[in-house]
Amino acid sequence: MINFPDRLDLAQTPTPLQFLPRLSGELGTRIWVKRDDMTGCAISGNKVRKLEFVLAKALAEGADTLITCGGLQSNHCRATAILGAQLGLKVHLILRGEPPAELDGNLLLDSLAGAEISCYPVSKYRRLPALFEQWAAHYRSLGHRPYLIPTGASDGIGAWGYIHATSELAGQMQEKAVSPRALICASGSGGTQAGLTLGCALNQLSCPVIGFAVCDDAAYFQNKVREDMRDWQQRYQMPIDVESLSLHVNDEYIGPGYARATPEMFATIRRLAALEGLILDPVYSGKAFHGMLQEIKKGTFQGAGDLVFIHTGGLFGLFAQRDQLDLNLPNQTNN
Ligand SMILES: *Cc1c(COP(=O)(O)O)cnc(C)c1O
Repeated sequence: MINFPDRLDLAQTPTPLQFLPRLSGELGTRIWVKRDDMTGCAISGNKVRKLEFVLAKALAEGADTLITCGGLQSNHCRATAILGAQLGLKVHLILRGEPPAELDGNLLLDSLAGAEISCYPVSKYRRLPALFEQWAAHYRSLGHRPYLIPTGASDGIGAWGYIHATSELAGQMQEKAVSPRALICASGSGGTQAGLTLGCALNQLSCPVIGFAVCDDAAYFQNKVREDMRDWQQRYQMPIDVESLSLHVNDEYIGPGYARATPEMFATIRRLAALEGLILDPVYSGKAFHGMLQEIKKGTFQGAGDLVFIHTGGLFGLFAQRDQLDLNLPNQTNN
């Protein structure tokens, strides 16, 4: 039995482990999707699983204000803004980029949930630790108790979210007799991959976890995921040698950069939506899914077998990139 720290019950779990029949038939590989895009409605996606543990700690420390950061269309910031409102906490978001002309996608929901938002140009956002400290000092001076959440809630505390998810998944795989060649996820801040990797070790699952990088290169993620696992080990003194765990990162499908996908990736998003009713996003899940399909075609997973794709959410980010989807407007119908 894994001894989990305190956790708030915020996510709708267990999420389904769903088989994709038509895609699997075409590929000759059985594709299963762990539907973590269904962890909630407005709070959907992977971040709520990490925040279940992070916010439990924040409340235990008596915090009344959450400060966190991310891109303008950050799913993590949206989940934090809404969960903060649910828990009666003030939320301040430090966002990277020029303020946009209109509210869309995640940013619309951040505002709707009443979060305070500060946008910084990339040059200023580079001094992120100083920005966190500045806003924390501001709230302390007003008599508040701020709690700082790192990018993507990825640290040793947030890692528990995907350890917990792996235990859930292990039971579902046993029930459905799925023994995957690999668990596949998108990696953005590394915490999901860190949690899945630790979760596999703790549950004695031997399949590799492959993170498809969406921004930085493989060396960056090797380092970041290892750091999160070390932080977890140091905080909780768990009987796992985190240095011995292998990490697998594929950085061949980043495309033009963070939050920017290729036309082929958008084509994959359109195709999966129509073929299986599975909605992917252009920042994370669509890139990773596209990468997985290319690797299957290359023969990386050697023929038939099961693959489990962790659908980490991101639906709202799709709306902010509607132009790139290349969809036709409906025609006027008169008959
Ligand atoms: C944040 C995010 C990821 C990446 O997870 P990390 O733990 O940050 O690596 C993947 N998919 C979606 C939709 C996300 O919002």
